[in-house]
Amino acid sequence: MNAVRPAANAPVADRRAAIAVRQTIALPMARAGGATPDLVTFDGLDRPDDFALVFPRTGTGAPWVRVHSACLTGDLFGSARCDCGPQLDAALAHLAHHGGALLYLHQEGRGIGLRAKIEAYALQDQGLDTFAANESLGFPPDARDYHSAAGMLQALGIARLHLLTANPDKVQQLQKAGIVVESTLALEIAPTPFNRDYLEAKRKRFELFSQALLSPRR
Ligand SMILES: [Zn+2]
Repeated sequence: MNAVRPAANAPVADRRAAIAVRQTIALPMARAGGATPDLVTFDGLDRPDDFALVFPRTGTGAPWVRVHSACLTGDLFGSARCDCGPQLDAALAHLAHHGGALLYLHQEGRGIGLRAKIEAYALQDQGLDTFAANESLGFPPDARDYHSAAGMLQALGIARLHLLTANPDKVQQLQKAGIVVESTLALEIAPTPFNRDYLEAKRKRFELFSQALLSPRR
């Protein structure tokens, strides 16, 4: 049942191609308006517990997709330090209504893990923003990787999609990996006194990233 898994140092494209659907079960949910998506697990992933929730399609054309990086404090406990919980709820509501897929990727804290994220929170309390805090701990400002997401999408038969995101880095990584992003839709989250600085730091960074994409390389 398990496909032979390429070594960790194998080319990204080979590792992506080895990702296959392992199992599909119905998941009746208390959230998402009581929807019952399919929960899909995969073989061949670097993070074996990443999974997809696939909601029945209501139309034709490319499906809606949310690629969501896990945030235990936000997703599970509704932490107001970030906007992950409301983003997840908004994405689930959108997908329950329109159909499509949510990929849940275990790359907590922009990919640095829960303990380091809490250390970064302490630095943010001293005035650093979410990206600078990760850097001052010796991590990249954003270590999240979406190559496995492309493999999961391929395994689900999704080659073209509409993406629920405001993150240009996510769009670029998926497109580089061969997924066609037909359009994007940002999930609008109302700021709170606790996450205002966090949302502002993200907005500024995405602006800089978009400008870098548009300006010609020298
Ligand atoms: Zn979060």
